[in-house]
Amino acid sequence: MLKTIAVIEGDDAAPEAMRPTVELLQSLNLGLEFQHPQVGEAALAAEGSPFPDAARATIDAADATLFGSTSGLSGAALMYLRWGKQTYANVRPCQHLPGCASPLARPEGIDFVIVRENLEDLYVGCEGPLEDLAPLGLTGRTIRRPVHELGAGKYAIKAITRVGVERVTRFACELARQRRGQLTCATKHNMLRDTDGFFLEVAREVAADYPDVAFDAFIVDDFACRMIREPQRFDVVVMPNLYGDILSDAAGGLLGSLGLAPSACYGDDYAYFEPAHGTAPDIAGQHIINPTATLLSAALMLDYLELPEAGARLREAVRRVYAQGDALTPDQGGRATTEDLCGAVAAAL
Ligand code: ATP
Repeated sequence: MLKTIAVIEGDDAAPEAMRPTVELLQSLNLGLEFQHPQVGEAALAAEGSPFPDAARATIDAADATLFGSTSGLSGAALMYLRWGKQTYANVRPCQHLPGCASPLARPEGIDFVIVRENLEDLYVGCEGPLEDLAPLGLTGRTIRRPVHELGAGKYAIKAITRVGVERVTRFACELARQRRGQLTCATKHNMLRDTDGFFLEVAREVAADYPDVAFDAFIVDDFACRMIREPQRFDVVVMPNLYGDILSDAAGGLLGSLGLAPSACYGDDYAYFEPAHGTAPDIAGQHIINPTATLLSAALMLDYLELPEAGARLREAVRRVYAQGDALTPDQGGRATTEDLCGAVAAAL
């Protein structure tokens, strides 16, 4: 059956990785149809809105969205894909590719997945002047100084809900079941008892429903250290939004480049796929952006579209290109262009 994919190429250098990735997918003849909704500055100029109704309708009608990194006005589409579509589980695999330029002496066998809660925590977008909180007279066991005594400044709300933790932890447990059966939770529960303490408590409750999944928990700073010292130890790691955002970029660094780290955001009835890195504005126009993260995100999309054999073949082709090592981009110490690397992957397929 024909599957439709909405493609948003993104900004700066992102389209340079997205275009050859889509061409490669098209060449596989998998029955995929690609639609290109107009968003961002182009849509503002043409239709008076950075995220017009037509773009939303294309995303809604598609089976999934493939999203290049965005900056600026295209961000409106991203907000819709995330909060509009309630894509609550951000999955960021961190797997060593033999042949990649990792800064670690022994990166072999690194294969873990960060499952980042994607909608809550400090990302609920509720910030403002501290003075606004003063009349509330907030007190409580974790307040170290009355808010009205803090002086002029700003606050941000960190919201952790039971529903939010339950659904992302269930997702992580199901994923652990398909992998090596181990789930780790990383929170700052020693300092943030009411929020991160609650995250850990609910995650532990949910994990208890999965007796075949081994559960452990670390304070997030301890986890950060262990992720670098003994990354091979971890399988699936669930954590609140902000820590997941930061640590998954750090995990990309462990592999050797942000350009290696794919990402997928799943809700109950929609998913979108994007590289974990940003738009790499400093290398835009040079055609040297590493497309691996985009290719591996596309492989996750193929799995989601019930084309797991095609997803596995694409991953295997990427692995072969790294093992051969003669078509790698400059971030990996090579001299290949983005198109060269994609061409090598196509040849390996
Ligand atoms: P954001 O805030 O959106 O994550 P950022 O500006 O913090 O974006 P990136 O755009 O990810 O970060 O870029 C950080 C650095 O990593 C830049 O020097 C960029 O060129 C490099 N980089 C990011 N992605 C890639 C890639 N796919 N290939 C090569 N270099 C990359």
